[in-house]
Amino acid sequence: MAKNEGRNAIRFFSPKMQALVDAHAAMEAGLRDALAGQALQLFYQPQVDQHGRVVGAEALIRWFGADGRLVPPAEFIPVAEDTGLIVPIGQWVLDTACAQLAVWQALAPGFTLAVNVSPRQFHQPDFVDQVIASVKASGIDPRGLELELTESVILGDLDETIARMEQLRTLGLRFSLDDFGTGYSSLSYLKRLPFDQLKIDQSFVRDMLNDASSETIVRAILGMSASLGLEVQAEGVETAAQRDFLHAQGCRLFQGYLFARPLPLAQWPENPCALQLAAAD
Ligand code: C2E
Ligand code: MG
Ligand code: MG
Ligand code: MG
Repeated sequence: MAKNEGRNAIRFFSPKMQALVDAHAAMEAGLRDALAGQALQLFYQPQVDQHGRVVGAEALIRWFGADGRLVPPAEFIPVAEDTGLIVPIGQWVLDTACAQLAVWQALAPGFTLAVNVSPRQFHQPDFVDQVIASVKASGIDPRGLELELTESVILGDLDETIARMEQLRTLGLRFSLDDFGTGYSSLSYLKRLPFDQLKIDQSFVRDMLNDASSETIVRAILGMSASLGLEVQAEGVETAAQRDFLHAQGCRLFQGYLFARPLPLAQWPENPCALQLAAAD
């Protein structure tokens, strides 16, 4: 009986589910080709200080499919996580970002570059060694490199996570907690993890001027960060009103379409601090 049920379970895979599986497999194959054939690119989105000066950037991956269509990372990063392809992709991102940061640091020594690290990549046994290898090969000053982790990274072994972060921080790297407020981590975890910066998730920034609870959350994050001595960056800042409100609450670092979208390297000037922003005011 059980055997029959097992077979049936496979045979009655619904057409809808089969389509999902097929799409997943096609994307995996496409992503493998993209990695091999240089169809992946990094775009860089500026990060600005309270005076509107460009002080850093976040590297964001872009995949241009065979038809030239841009596949959003929200679609393919989860597939890359599932299949393990995120490991070689993440390594490519790190190597490429470090090489670019070396070029930028030569003209703008204080410039920082943030790189997203996925949980699966972070928990690879040789993750720390690979970061060190990227840093060495590029010759960057490691103090300009920020690794962005999300709260889901904490779902792994907490002591192990702390140990890895500490090892890299000893070299001078910084850690930023991305999408803060959307995960499930408690404040007691946050206190134990050696983050340098929190990034207020864009959903709160988007809603804070119209929604009292989002406003409360933004105020609470800024107040708490100040007392914990953490730097805060707001992401998804689209309007001057949002920037002004955040500034009034003590936020000093901003990223969002108000300043610029993620840009291909060709749109950055040689000295990244000289980038002309679309709408600084
Ligand atoms: P994230 O790290 O939170 O990156 C911020 C996302 O918000 C980016 O989306 C960026 O283009 C978008 N954004 C920036 N400013 C604004 C704004 O003012 N309004 C709105 N509506 N959106 C804004 P993107 O590039 O599509 O990336 C989505 C997510 O994919 C990232 O979220 C990150 O989690 C992941 N991702 C991107 N590149 C990488 C990568 O190299 N490695 C890994 N592991 N994940 C990556
Ligand atoms: Mg920064
Ligand atoms: Mg990020
Ligand atoms: Mg984010």
